[in-house]
Amino acid sequence: DEQNYKESQRFAEHMKGVSEATSEFAKKRTMKQQRQYLPVFAVRQDLLQVIRENQVIIVVGETGSGKTTQLTQYLHEEGYTKYGMVGCTQPRRVAAMSVAKRVSDEMNVELGKEVGYSIRFEDCTSADTVIKYMTDGILLRESLREPDLDHYSAIIMDEAHERSLNTDVLFGLLRDVVGRRQDLKLIVTSATMDASKFSNFFGEVPTFNIPGRTFPVDLLFAKNSVEDYVDAAVKQTIQIHLTGNPGDILIFMPGQEDIEITCEVLAERLAEVDEAPELLVLPIYSQLPSDLQAKIFQKSPEGIRKCVVATNIAETSLTVDGIMYVVDSGYCKLKVYNPRIGMDALQIYPISQANSNQRSGRAGRTGPGTCYRLYTERQYKNELLTTTVPEIQRTNLANVVLLLKSLGVDDLLQFHFMDPPPQDNILNSMFQLWVLGALDNTGQLTDLGRQMVEFPLDPPLSKMLIVSAGLGCSADVLIIVSMLSVPSIFFRPKGREEDSDNIREKFQVPESDHLTLLHVYNQWRVNKYSSSWCTDHFIHAKAMRRVREVHAQLKEIMEQQKIPIVSCGTEWDIIRKCICSAYFHQAARLKGLGEYVNCRTGMPCHLHPTSALFGMGYTPDYVVYHELVMTAKEYMQNVTAVDGQWLAELGPMFYSVKESGAGRVQKRRQAQEHMSQMEEEMKLAQESIRMSHEE
Ligand code: ADP
Ligand code: MG
Repeated sequence: DEQNYKESQRFAEHMKGVSEATSEFAKKRTMKQQRQYLPVFAVRQDLLQVIRENQVIIVVGETGSGKTTQLTQYLHEEGYTKYGMVGCTQPRRVAAMSVAKRVSDEMNVELGKEVGYSIRFEDCTSADTVIKYMTDGILLRESLREPDLDHYSAIIMDEAHERSLNTDVLFGLLRDVVGRRQDLKLIVTSATMDASKFSNFFGEVPTFNIPGRTFPVDLLFAKNSVEDYVDAAVKQTIQIHLTGNPGDILIFMPGQEDIEITCEVLAERLAEVDEAPELLVLPIYSQLPSDLQAKIFQKSPEGIRKCVVATNIAETSLTVDGIMYVVDSGYCKLKVYNPRIGMDALQIYPISQANSNQRSGRAGRTGPGTCYRLYTERQYKNELLTTTVPEIQRTNLANVVLLLKSLGVDDLLQFHFMDPPPQDNILNSMFQLWVLGALDNTGQLTDLGRQMVEFPLDPPLSKMLIVSAGLGCSADVLIIVSMLSVPSIFFRPKGREEDSDNIREKFQVPESDHLTLLHVYNQWRVNKYSSSWCTDHFIHAKAMRRVREVHAQLKEIMEQQKIPIVSCGTEWDIIRKCICSAYFHQAARLKGLGEYVNCRTGMPCHLHPTSALFGMGYTPDYVVYHELVMTAKEYMQNVTAVDGQWLAELGPMFYSVKESGAGRVQKRRQAQEHMSQMEEEMKLAQESIRMSHEE
């Protein structure tokens, strides 16, 4: 009976929260009332006072307390925007866009005017913009042009607890900028209480806490470890849904594929239940078109429960109101440098305890909630790391190295990192840049390297663009690079797989996925960039429009850089050679029937069934690839057939040709000498890292 009593107590408490949260009053609150209801509003004056009195402060507050949407507006209202923009950085593009939209609504202005956002390849700001949301990568690139960030009167580094690679580099740069510019305000925000590290980093600056308003969350662990988290999440969600208790549901999944499957299976299973109440299932992940992303914030129709299926974007970056149940798969996707394949790979990893706690907290914003953890308590305690390893310590740093070098930071080991990257990371990245010709033997930026920095692209792609000019195929390579900057353009609707595959085959150029992409774009252009043409050919019209925007922006940079833009017409071998010049370090050789192995590591790698080279009865001896995707097997993605000769010519440090002439032997010897010189330099660098660590 006592158990019963407790249960009913809990239920009563629960219902009180529910009715508060969903009362008609709450629904009808005006935008202004909503703003005033946020926890940060209660401390607005104190906060502004601390900002007035200090140049740098750390602001800590629960997710949803109003840091991201309100701080910029407060600074604007206080007049800070009279002397420059208020900039707010986000680790995620989705967050930058979505929050800018929200703030422009709150201020009742058109998005892109007073309030705007800027993300890679998409600048939605104007001369009127005073509040600018952007990815941290954008501000980093802006600092190349404007080391003192003169256009800004204040910078808010949001979501600092995420410790994204670019945020970490910004930390080091901004620490110097605030030293040089006493008039610049810097606010670092974090959702977690562990702010002392940030405060330390800037020289014991004050930390301001926004008092939270949270409700208790019941934590329910799995009894046994879960085999299939998608299946477990679906079962748990349906069980919650069928109890009939009110409150929306938030499911955390590692990535897009799992989210899509979860949404499908949820719909299927619910359809099997007799007279199941309706459930509004809404996915959210970074590649989702923005109109669909916006849906998660909309109120569901009266009496219909909402179920948001999200990546860890909903952990702290975006807050959906009304969530009372969280179902946590316990996994997320992380980019981690994989030494076996010599590059970064996006893979699924268990979350950290910090992630886990943030996720469960999402259930207690509007009332008491429940979090179902699809892992055992033992796993939580023994197997999850306390916090996630910062990105700077686990990924390839080639872009960062390039950027810092061009900012004049010659000695990366002297750069002030909050947590220095492991020496191997720096050395690997420097090696990659040296291989591409962006660094010389002494680790200095070459002319090529200096030009590569100008492009917001990964080093191989920027190299491909620059090399293409000399080969006379820059107009064509520009299209290829633009196409590669957008996620897959082909779609394969359910029930019409065969139709779409047939059409796709018609576009395929047998020796190259890159040329296939070029072909698609050229056909689209011939068809006057028509949307209906896309739809007829199972191509995402939206993605193609995006390609066109990327194309326009890269073209502008090429023009600024005075790189001639010329087409080679149908001389496609030249383009393949150009592709080879950027990807020779990612080459595979035919071994047996349709089987490939990596030229450098001997590791098997496979053609993806969607590749133009797959099953065409034509299997070239050598191929290069854009990236490796690791699912059931290691698949090469975006593959182009190349000549063995080209590999030896363009990548002499890796490859030789047996029947080569004396000249080539000599060239190779020279390259190897350079390589050992480079290694020597790196050892010295290593030595000095070790010493600086010991200091
Ligand atoms: P924090 O940054 O402290 O986590 P935010 O400023 O992001 O908090 O969120 C404050 C409030 O604004 C939350 O209640 C959230 O639901 C709301 N909000 C934020 N973005 C949107 C949006 N695009 N649409 C509707 N509401 C939003
Ligand atoms: Mg925020």
